[in-house]
Amino acid sequence: MLGGMQDWSLVVTQIVDHAAREHGTRELVTRWADGSESRTTWAGVRQSALRMTQALRRLGIAKGDRIATMAMNHHRHLISWYGAVGAGGVLHTINPRLFDEQLEYMVGHAEDRVLLYDAVFQPIVDRMKHRWPTIEHYICYDSGAQTTHFEDWIGGEDGQTDWTECDERDPCMLCYTSGTTGNPKGVLYEHRSTMLHALTAVQPAIFDFDARSVMLPVVPMFHAASWGLPWAGAITGVKFVFSAVNDPAALCELIQNEGVTHAAGVPTVWLGVFQQLDSAGGNLGKLRHIICGGSAMPRSMIERFMRNGINVAHAWGMTETSPIGTTGCKPSNWDDLTFDEQVDAKAMQGRVPFGVELRCLDLGDPAIVLPRDGKTSGALQVRGPWVVKRYFKAEADATVEDQWFDTGDVAVIHPDGTLQLTDRTKDVIKSGGEWISSVELENAAIAHPGVAEAAAIGIAHPKWDERPILVVVKKPGAEVDPESLREVLATRVAKWWLPDAIEFVDEIPHTGTGKISKKDLRDRFRNYRLED
Ligand code: ADP
Repeated sequence: MLGGMQDWSLVVTQIVDHAAREHGTRELVTRWADGSESRTTWAGVRQSALRMTQALRRLGIAKGDRIATMAMNHHRHLISWYGAVGAGGVLHTINPRLFDEQLEYMVGHAEDRVLLYDAVFQPIVDRMKHRWPTIEHYICYDSGAQTTHFEDWIGGEDGQTDWTECDERDPCMLCYTSGTTGNPKGVLYEHRSTMLHALTAVQPAIFDFDARSVMLPVVPMFHAASWGLPWAGAITGVKFVFSAVNDPAALCELIQNEGVTHAAGVPTVWLGVFQQLDSAGGNLGKLRHIICGGSAMPRSMIERFMRNGINVAHAWGMTETSPIGTTGCKPSNWDDLTFDEQVDAKAMQGRVPFGVELRCLDLGDPAIVLPRDGKTSGALQVRGPWVVKRYFKAEADATVEDQWFDTGDVAVIHPDGTLQLTDRTKDVIKSGGEWISSVELENAAIAHPGVAEAAAIGIAHPKWDERPILVVVKKPGAEVDPESLREVLATRVAKWWLPDAIEFVDEIPHTGTGKISKKDLRDRFRNYRLED
């Protein structure tokens, strides 16, 4: 063969090199919990990351070693992402909201050697230290703690070094799923998968970044790689606005003061922001693009954003998919749709970017691949270059056949490829041989003005196999009688879907990532009896 193209390794340090070179003076802002602010630039991020690389080498950290962080969103945390991978390490972002048993398991399983953490998590460190024997070095992002301060630690280095050479198929990051069943599982991202994901994520249908974008990532850097934002943002040199606290008032203030144009966060975050605006007044300033996922966006939320002229990218994904799988991008007939139809379109989970493939299998017979008819729901599978192949240290691949990964989600795929999630495989309720979506029942229930939260689970039934019951938390001070709730449900779901019983509780159990824990709920109602 005469000719060819250059070797240019898809390693993520290339991203920060590019950001420093092409967007070097572009600012990054952190607002700390006490209201004070720090500012740096992309050139500054790279320089500090190089210093951290030197400091890690001085600690004896070698290629492939795991470096953990347990921290909120701030520029020092971002520097550590590039510093850890720059030293050839594998960055392990720990979710501080997980339970002690999970924290012990994950750190031990990852064999983390260094932990960088925020002072607010000092109580966790004090509590867990003796259960984390692999950690040799603790570095605190804040000054005044008992351990080495991050700035002092990297301040002793001059940054005159090169990144550790890595192959694009080397690992660079480790994220654990929250493990609603069994122990958390580690997903090991590679430089190449991370780079391809980042290049995809900047597209208009996803993050919609260009050099003018000002991005407020509310999604924590410890959750699902912060949806890949720290990598993707550097590609186009966005101005990042970090908030070390997720307080709605602080977020609204930052949106106004820093000219935020883009923001990313789970639906609960935006509910808080709307409540803040409703009670304290104000508006969303220059905000024009929201990326939201992790759980389904309520229709009313999408409508409110759209009425404010804000584009909504409703995304579906999971830790195992790096995490972007689909986004609610505009379909080709968008301009012909009415406003309500546009809101309906955005309420679905959207379509795949190039690089992700989807299919649904029959729930009863996995040999049957379902048609994309917009009606038949089945077990959702996914594959692509940024989808997990094998969990960290697992003995077998996580995929089934032909590299398909079973997501555990139940979905319908529409003829134009739009994904509509209907449930989780374990949560869907089988009644008389037909499937009832617990998620749709829950969505119908929260349409009742007195309902704060609702969860539907299947209970064994002598005749129907399973029947749904609805567990409900009322809004403070609200009166909800079961009959009025049943009436609301009946306008939204089929009659045979109506729950056999409605139970009012003070609280519904949640997982470490804030999702309803159906497993705990099923345990709680294990001995519940339904009559024939
Ligand atoms: P964890 O598994 O650690 O709780 P993930 O973020 O990996 O956290 O969770 C992925 C799951 O979240 C998906 O499999 C799906 O069930 C749910 N999910 C993600 N995005 C959406 C969405 N837009 N709508 C509904 N469910 C979603």
